[in-house]
Amino acid sequence: MIKPIIVANWKLYGNKTFVQEFSKYFNLNLKNYLKKNTIIIAPPIIYIEYMKKLINEKNIFFSSQNIDYHNEGAFTGEISSRMLNDIGVKYVILGHSERRKNHFESNKLIAKKFHSVKKNNLIPILCIGETKEEKKLELTEKILKKQIDEIFLKCGKFAFNKTIVAYEPIWAIGSGKTATPNLINKILKMIKKYIIKNSFNNIKLYMQYGGSVSPENIKNIINEKYVDGVLIGSGSLNFKNFKKIIQISSNFNKKKTSS
Ligand code: PEP
Repeated sequence: MIKPIIVANWKLYGNKTFVQEFSKYFNLNLKNYLKKNTIIIAPPIIYIEYMKKLINEKNIFFSSQNIDYHNEGAFTGEISSRMLNDIGVKYVILGHSERRKNHFESNKLIAKKFHSVKKNNLIPILCIGETKEEKKLELTEKILKKQIDEIFLKCGKFAFNKTIVAYEPIWAIGSGKTATPNLINKILKMIKKYIIKNSFNNIKLYMQYGGSVSPENIKNIINEKYVDGVLIGSGSLNFKNFKKIIQISSNFNKKKTSS
């Protein structure tokens, strides 16, 4: 059995006061749920160390929302996987649609970042997804496979071992519209089968859904067979909503799906 994996992506939100309030709320209301969920918080990187001290709990994990693929060098403004490893961060969100769109990140660049994350013994949370137009043109599967193929090309057949892949349809992010649980399951199953078919045997791969996850829809989403967890954006900034999502998902320890 595996615990649901809940990732909170704060994006470019929060400040010191918010971090203090979130940590206090977490300590009082959420620590008990760590036994039943793997909780990964991705605040803006500058708050991670501070939050770690405030929460002071070894069973909560932190993630960066991005990295540069170099370990070090003359790359002003960047941070590297090696530096994250140095401060005890375990996870890195990669390929988020906001970075693909606003920072022009290509599949090739994301694959280089993925490679750096793995080389530094961190765990990638790879976001993949299609636009509304691509969905309308029935290109979803093709687009997702293309996003995956570039990772195989750069990182080889063991690339996806100990990795989280988050299916995040771009039309669902921040829109209040989620994909139906049935569609989420169907697409996660397709992605998982495709990755396993192209990998060496016995990889450990975890699947998430992201896109307008809320207290109202979490139960039906997390209940689906191929959903190992969820990636939450705006819902993770509202303490009470975040708690409700975690409370509900606590009741859904997942059986491992091998393919
Ligand atoms: C996200 O940012 O990855 C996301 C899923 O956002 P939201 O939950 O706000 O749709």
